[in-house]
Amino acid sequence: MTAASTADEFDAEVIAAFGRHLLVRAGAQELRARPAGRRLSIVCGDRVRCEFDRAHDEVLIVEVLPRRTLLARANLRGESEPVVANITQLVVVIAPLPQPDYFIVDRYLCAATAAGIAGAIAINKCDLDANNLESGEIDAYVTAGYAQVACSATVGTGLTELRALLASGVSVLVGQSGVGKSSLVNRWLGSAQQATLPIDDNDRGRHATTRRQLFAVPDGGLVIDTPGMRSFGLLESDSLADSFAEIAALAARCRFRDCQHQGEPGCAVDAAIEAGELDPARRDGLHKLGREIAAAERRRDPVLAREERARMRTLHKEMRARTRSESKLRR
Ligand code: GDP
Ligand code: ZN
Repeated sequence: MTAASTADEFDAEVIAAFGRHLLVRAGAQELRARPAGRRLSIVCGDRVRCEFDRAHDEVLIVEVLPRRTLLARANLRGESEPVVANITQLVVVIAPLPQPDYFIVDRYLCAATAAGIAGAIAINKCDLDANNLESGEIDAYVTAGYAQVACSATVGTGLTELRALLASGVSVLVGQSGVGKSSLVNRWLGSAQQATLPIDDNDRGRHATTRRQLFAVPDGGLVIDTPGMRSFGLLESDSLADSFAEIAALAARCRFRDCQHQGEPGCAVDAAIEAGELDPARRDGLHKLGREIAAAERRRDPVLAREERARMRTLHKEMRARTRSESKLRR
């Protein structure tokens, strides 16, 4: 390597990712960048080694520095797909509207726990009637050890508490679309400051699900917004025992070692539910996630996986055709 090119090397942090279009921050500067090679898998939150290519006037990412944490999910083929790197906390945002899907909440918390990332819950829109929120479900998360704050992006309640929660490190904000993640981020930043990436025609057909952005919170800490991350599959390696620790503890007292807690005699989990010591939603969540992980394993089966890929190819073809006809309509 020549002395000149060495001088043009620098470290940066990936603050937005849209497919292979990346935005990195180095000091006070934000620069557009792209991976130097096809094999480099780079996600939001990654610390990277960059090279300034003078000939083409662009920033190349040549190396991903070791990750402290990596949140991953299973894609449609059941393979591990990195989502966001170097975060210390995952905050699931829920709200009275849209009605919470506790299965999604469980999934996120489980994946976080498996990756050594702390989990927390933010209940937004607390200015609305909270009839949709079953307090039993939410209390169960607190009992299980997850931090919790109630807030309102529109009225402003609880934002100090939420900030305090986020100030401890780098958090990723996740949750169903419509719960108010962007509104919360906008409370801190003002929409003008949001990092956006220009997209070219090749990327237009791709949904914005691949875009992830990192924002600074005024009191310290960073927030990564994940627009529309609808499917978040669990991996086989995501340990259910860790994120359902209270059930694992009870299960040690079940009569059968392989008790599935589905009405078997002498089941300590069922007994705890009957005694009002365990919310049945926690057991149901465990069962649902167990089934999902089993399904992901089946997808990794070569024969089944081939069928799934054929199905996806058809789906993608349809989507492309639809995008083409839509863009014709716009013209
Ligand atoms: P996201 O999809 O999670 O990013 O949700 P948005 O931030 O786009 O918010 C979805 C809708 O909920 C918008 O119409 C917001 O104005 C509204 N919203 C967000 N936060 C609150 C809140 O605290 N209270 C109420 N009443 N509405 C909110
Ligand atoms: Zn049992």
